[in-house]
Amino acid sequence: MQIKYCAACGKSFPLRAQKPSQTYCSQPDCQRVRRKKWQQEKLKSDSDYAENQARAQQAWSKRNAEYWKNYRTAHPDYVEQNRKMQHARNARATLEKGGPIAKMDVSEERSQLTAGLYQLKQIDAAGIAKMDVWTVELRVVTRSQTRKSSIAKR
Ligand SMILES: [Zn+2]
Repeated sequence: MQIKYCAACGKSFPLRAQKPSQTYCSQPDCQRVRRKKWQQEKLKSDSDYAENQARAQQAWSKRNAEYWKNYRTAHPDYVEQNRKMQHARNARATLEKGGPIAKMDVSEERSQLTAGLYQLKQIDAAGIAKMDVWTVELRVVTRSQTRKSSIAKR
C-alpha cells in the first residue's frame, strides 16, 4: 500500500487506489483545512461563486442582525484584536496604493527592538498622547557592525 503525507498535519496516511489525488488525511481538522483552501481558491477564480457567497452572507447578516452585535459585546478581546488588525490592513492597503512612502529614521542607538508590528502614539511636548494610534511595522533593514535599524512607517 502506498503512503502519502497529509498537506495539513504532515502525518502519513494510506493512499487509496480509488483516490490517488488525495492530499489530505481523513482527520476532521484536515478536511476542514482542505475545504477552506478549496473555498479560498474558488472565491479567487470564480466571480459568480464569490458574488453568490457575498449575497448569501449579506442575507444571513440581515436575518441575524443581532448576531455580531451580541458577539462583540460578549467578546471584547475579539473587538480589540479586530480593531488592531483592521488598522494594520488599512495601513497595508494605503501603502499598496502608493500612499505614504516609508520614512527611514535611522536610530543611532543600539536598539533592542525586533521586527514586528508596533503601535505608535504621538506624544506632544507636554507629554500628552494624542488619540491617534498608528500601527507600524518595524523591519530591520541592515544589520551592519553599527547595528543601525530603521523604522518603516506604514
Ligand atoms: Zn492530516
